[in-house]
Amino acid sequence: MESGNSALTQKRNYQREMEQILHAANNAPHVLLHACCAPCSSAVLERLTEHAKITIFFYNPNILPETEYRFRLEELQRLLREMLLTGEVELLEGSYEPERFLAFAKELAAEPERGERCRKCIRLRLEMAAQAAKEIGADYFATTLTVSPHKDAAFINAAGFEIAEKYGIAWLPSDFKKKEGYKRSIRLSQEYSLYRQNYCGCPFSKQETETN
Ligand code: SF4
Repeated sequence: MESGNSALTQKRNYQREMEQILHAANNAPHVLLHACCAPCSSAVLERLTEHAKITIFFYNPNILPETEYRFRLEELQRLLREMLLTGEVELLEGSYEPERFLAFAKELAAEPERGERCRKCIRLRLEMAAQAAKEIGADYFATTLTVSPHKDAAFINAAGFEIAEKYGIAWLPSDFKKKEGYKRSIRLSQEYSLYRQNYCGCPFSKQETETN
């Protein structure tokens, strides 16, 4: 069973697992890619569109205030218009429902990044991505979140596999920061003059950035 946070899970090479899946596919699979922002999406799209048809799913109830949420979405839309990509990409916007995030996050306000608040936040976004992938008939669901060195790729992949079993839709493992993925996202962000936010998304991460 593909789940858990064991030492074994920590050692897995999710980038290689993703490559093996994509290279073994006879036809380009349809991947629903949960995306958090344009900078993270840039390098991930460049890597994935060579091998897959992509539906980007922008579902981020954790981003506050709403003006910030709208601006991140607009930057993603601009990137999709301007970036030269080899494959097919479409954008699907999820509902903006910050109350759903705040319902569990408020009492976890003091948690540090990568703590319980972040784990619940990531799980919520992956669960919604799995449901959306199922609805549109995608072959896999995945997330851009593993491009960030601030995120725990082992946790994200373990959660992805668990959620995949729950919803009956395959998880595409990833560790997009590997093979210079994170550096590439910085270069592409400069090339397309993308807005690079200085906090993860929620008010708690904003406060943490401002006080450090
Ligand atoms: S720091 Fe980022 S991942 Fe963690 S709860 Fe806030 S928005 Fe979600």
